[in-house]
Amino acid sequence: MKRIYLDHTSAMPVDKRVLRFAERYFDKDFGNPSSLYSVGLRAKSAIEDARKKVAELINAEKETCIVFTSGATESNNLAIKGTALRNIAKGKEVVASNIEHISVLNPMKELQKNGFKFTIIPVDSIGIINMEKLDESLTKNTTVTSIMYANNEIGTIEPIKEISETVHKKGLYLHVDATIAAGFIPIDVQNDGIDLLTLSSNDMYGPQGAGVLYIKSGVKLQPILSGGGQEQGLRSGTENLFAIAGMGEAARIAKNEMGIEGNRLKEIRDKLIVEILKIEDSYLTGHPTQRLPNHASFRFSRIEGESILLNMDMYNIQISTGSACSSRTLESSHTLLAIGLKHEEAHGSMVLTLGRANKIEEVPIITKAVKETIKRLRRLSPL
Ligand code: PMP
Repeated sequence: MKRIYLDHTSAMPVDKRVLRFAERYFDKDFGNPSSLYSVGLRAKSAIEDARKKVAELINAEKETCIVFTSGATESNNLAIKGTALRNIAKGKEVVASNIEHISVLNPMKELQKNGFKFTIIPVDSIGIINMEKLDESLTKNTTVTSIMYANNEIGTIEPIKEISETVHKKGLYLHVDATIAAGFIPIDVQNDGIDLLTLSSNDMYGPQGAGVLYIKSGVKLQPILSGGGQEQGLRSGTENLFAIAGMGEAARIAKNEMGIEGNRLKEIRDKLIVEILKIEDSYLTGHPTQRLPNHASFRFSRIEGESILLNMDMYNIQISTGSACSSRTLESSHTLLAIGLKHEEAHGSMVLTLGRANKIEEVPIITKAVKETIKRLRRLSPL
């Protein structure tokens, strides 16, 4: 059975073009970017080339606004703790939506334990943030507000421009976690009004182990990692050269191909949604149209997501049942509860995230496997 991989928000293959581009930084131009001899200078120039490519992907005003980290979790931590701690004299309040990734929610909870007020903004039944609640919650003491560009479990794209206008009207900073949106939909930090933006290399077909925090000129942060002062003192530690160079190339490819690839993925996504919703008691989760082009998410009544995942793997089709980071626990997904599902409803979820290797011809194979799986599981279900 040919493998059909449909879990691109959990992990992506590294694009072969990225591998070929960055390979030399493993064994030829492997120097430390801080070293002054030629192999070090070549490494430094690879980092700067990557910085330029990432800046172009998100239309950053300056290349120096791009700070390389080890990944999205680190970028989210740096954005939140870094801004909150550096601006503590202004106030001790932080704000986030209730569908943020745990790498946003947990740093905020840590701040809360240390005396900060943490306000959580609800979303509606398709995952759009409640703008009135957001407006009410922002005070002059709020140092950072974090709202994701698009949600990993339900695919909903938030109205970031409207959100940034609300945040900026009060003179505050907006952090946006664009981990799974970047490279799939256009992001323009200047036009969208974003102060801090999280990106991840592997979520755009780059190597694991690199991420970016975009920091708008003038936004002040306290570093989380101190040491040798790399990345303008904001992220000490010898740079992960291969991953960073690869991330730059991945960003360049994504920028060039996003339009055509987005339309191709949307067509597969929409066909999957039409076919899968023909199953009795099946529902789409998230926004019906304002969703990522590669994202289709569902719930089925009377069955467990984990059983769907394991059954689908028997067809050599890999899917997810909610957050990749918490799916080893049997707790209901906080995102599905936030959109108003009951615990038993949240348990029957299935998330399909498409990528470059998926083809429209796979749709009948996938839908047949889903239909047989649901039928089999419902026959066995005690519910
Ligand atoms: N934010 C979002 C929206 C995510 O989906 C993820 C996981 N892919 C992360 C942050 C954290 O990414 P990582 O585990 O690669 O640091």
